[in-house]
Amino acid sequence: MKSHTRVAVIGGGVVGCSVLYHLTKAGWKDVVLIEREQLTAGSTWHAAGGFHTLNGDPNVAKLQGYTIGLYDELEKISGQSCGLHRSGGLLLADTPARMEWLKMAHARARYLGLETALLTPTEAKKLLPLIEERHFVGAMLDAADGNLDPYGTTHAYAKAARIGGAEIYLQTRVTALARRADGSWDVITNAGTIVAEHVVNAGGLWAREVGRMVGIELPVLAMEHMYLITDDMPEVVEFNRERGHELPHAIDFKAEIYLRQEHNGLVLGTYESACVPWQPRQTPWDFGAQLLAPDLERIAPSLELGFQHFPAMERAGIKRVINGPFTFSPDGNPLVGPVQGVPGFWCACAVMAGFSQGGGVGLALSQWMVDGEPGFDVWAMDVARYGGWATRAYTNAKVRENYSRRFSIRFPNEELPAARPHQTTALYDVMLAQGAVMGDSWGLETPLWFAPPGVERRDLVSFRRSNDFAHVKAECLGVRTAVGVTEIANFAKFEFTGPGAETFLSNLMTNRMPRAGRIVLTPMLNASGKLIGDFTIARTAPERFLMWGSSQAQIHHLRWFESHMPADHSVQIRRLDLGLVGLSVAGPRARAVLERLTDEDVSAAQFKFMDHRAMDVANVPAMINRVSYTGDLGYEIWVAPEYQRQLYFALMDAGRDLGIVNFGMRALLCMRLEKNFPTWYRELRPIYGAFEAGLERFVDLSKSRFVGREAALREKETGGVLRRVSFIVEASDADVLGDEPIWHDGTVVGWVTSGGYGHFVDRSLAQGYVPVALAADAGEHAFEIEILGDRRAATRIAQPLFDPEGVRMRM
Ligand SMILES: Cc1cc2nc3c(=O)[nH]c(=O)nc-3n(C[C@H](O)[C@H](O)[C@H](O)COP(=O)(O)OP(=O)(O)OC[C@H]3O[C@@H](n4cnc5c(N)ncnc54)[C@H](O)[C@@H]3O)c2cc1C
Repeated sequence: MKSHTRVAVIGGGVVGCSVLYHLTKAGWKDVVLIEREQLTAGSTWHAAGGFHTLNGDPNVAKLQGYTIGLYDELEKISGQSCGLHRSGGLLLADTPARMEWLKMAHARARYLGLETALLTPTEAKKLLPLIEERHFVGAMLDAADGNLDPYGTTHAYAKAARIGGAEIYLQTRVTALARRADGSWDVITNAGTIVAEHVVNAGGLWAREVGRMVGIELPVLAMEHMYLITDDMPEVVEFNRERGHELPHAIDFKAEIYLRQEHNGLVLGTYESACVPWQPRQTPWDFGAQLLAPDLERIAPSLELGFQHFPAMERAGIKRVINGPFTFSPDGNPLVGPVQGVPGFWCACAVMAGFSQGGGVGLALSQWMVDGEPGFDVWAMDVARYGGWATRAYTNAKVRENYSRRFSIRFPNEELPAARPHQTTALYDVMLAQGAVMGDSWGLETPLWFAPPGVERRDLVSFRRSNDFAHVKAECLGVRTAVGVTEIANFAKFEFTGPGAETFLSNLMTNRMPRAGRIVLTPMLNASGKLIGDFTIARTAPERFLMWGSSQAQIHHLRWFESHMPADHSVQIRRLDLGLVGLSVAGPRARAVLERLTDEDVSAAQFKFMDHRAMDVANVPAMINRVSYTGDLGYEIWVAPEYQRQLYFALMDAGRDLGIVNFGMRALLCMRLEKNFPTWYRELRPIYGAFEAGLERFVDLSKSRFVGREAALREKETGGVLRRVSFIVEASDADVLGDEPIWHDGTVVGWVTSGGYGHFVDRSLAQGYVPVALAADAGEHAFEIEILGDRRAATRIAQPLFDPEGVRMRM
């Protein structure tokens, strides 16, 4: 073993080998992989080897497309066969709702460049005669589906990496990691120590244990997973003989099974509801290339349904049952990227679909390490999306829920129950008592809407407008015509202090920092000029700034801030979390409410739009930002958690005769649509530039420097490629949800980022991205947006439908 290396990748499963290969491809040759036993000795060796492009997040779907496209290149470079079977696959819908879900997946595939087709049950049966078609209402064909040989593929990555200069040490276990004074790592193994600039945790089944070596508890858990291999089946032999090719794969959502051809029989695997975690606390180091005891009882309900749906299966003998563990994060997506607070320690773990995702994970991580940025949008798999709240018990509950729902529909208005309530504010019971239907905002319970007395406090899940529609409308109208209150605890909040705070923030943000008592809105860019943050910043004192941003991105942002900290200790950053909670009061009568609770002068002349003040409100020490995401006159009132109840009751009392209402997150998001306001994670993501997103007024290019300035300047000059646009959609009973294709002149030109119903303006609204050249087309019905398989006429709107001049916010 060498004494020093640039990167030590821990783990020789498919993911570690992919990372190693991609690092060499990106130009880093001095890299090593350390494997406890043999390559594939974790979960990789017994995988069923299936691959597909379908994923709830279009950006992860793209990475899956990359992985699947990579295998031919890998075979060529390495000379090692991956054992590819590109058979295509059928996704079988048993209900109209599932068919709607497939229609949405098919629509999305149009702009992802994936080849899919919607089929009737009869058409599906023609492709896969094993189906009993009366159980299905339709299907989607995904041409990219297939399967491969896990062992061959892992070795192909490893060979290609070796050709690129990498070294691989087998039978070598990393037993400890120790940080050296210069920031590099002592990677301590049973065969000696190697010093590495960077360490990658690709420990798979042991990723948790490798994380513990640097003092972190990663939210990852292994689950038992079973598939069975049948004896040869005459139906399969006959099909191959007649058609001259293999059977396509199939996913049967109802029975929770997947199946594909294996030799002259089938492989059938299940994601059963009665799922079982494996080694929930500690993975034993002596677990080798072993299998777990099969438990056919557990998967019997799936098998029974499977036998009805594929009758030939019932007649087939079972040759072998495989039960093996593999890992999941709470939401089922990988954990990738640098770990906040542990410089030089990277993750590439919790990859539950190594043969669909391994290539994309390797590409993203290698680019991140070599170039400082992953190169595309990896939000959905960034390890930083979880914080300390994702405890082991939380992870256990969520992973079980996710596993058992792998083949279930997740409706857009569906909140999943596991591990809830987890974090709550002091107002939790008060909100419930007033009819709040709660949602999970990255671990924090947050009111979504309020059911009036006599109305059941729950969502009827649907892709269409649902039972909350009338109530969200009432909340919006209450705010727009009088005043409303909503909880806004679910923001990230940071405090920056010190003599270097202003320069530090100014160097990271596109906007100029405010003077004391004022607020600015500002995007944050990476060096390529792409959006990696969008914040509200108030200056509370010459050397103190408060910042509000997206809660789900807060660890991501903290990691970015820390990596740009000056060495002279002139700036201190503090995360405020739920130590600062808030209530937003918005609507034309908001000032009247506030005036009743403070002796400060809050008149329009003295407390202006974008002002920040510290003042007592209802005897509560508070900080107020005069801003509102609804687009109305509004105040965000921030207090310590122990005062939140008192403040809330005082606001409601003071507003009673003014018509004050509670409103939830759904009403807030509807009202921001009426103002064409973008939202982080939907319209604002690292695939868009600030000018493309329409944020130019927050980019001050007269500043001499900030990260991404040169790229922003170029984008301004060229106009960028895309443009965020808002639309009125001629919808009927279903509004856009996000990720629908946008059509223009009969072709797909863009995609929707978000939308819904604008209750005050009484129109269905959408936002999305289209090429710059088309963005100016304001012709009536010049665009179409595909909602649940129907192309709906859409008209671009240049101005917000609500208060285009912004008079209300400034009144
Ligand atoms: C029954 C079954 C069926 C599956 N079917 C599919 C499928 O059809 N399609 C699909 O895409 N995926 C499938 N999977 C999942 C797939 O196996 C995983 O996504 C993939 O194996 C994850 O690879 P990995 O490299 O992250 O982890 P692993 O394969 O677990 O590799 C981790 C490696 O790290 C090594 N290691 C850990 N700690 C140390 C240390 N301290 N020092 C040195 N080495 C260490 C281990 O020995 C191991 O080799 C299936 C899994 C199972 C169990």
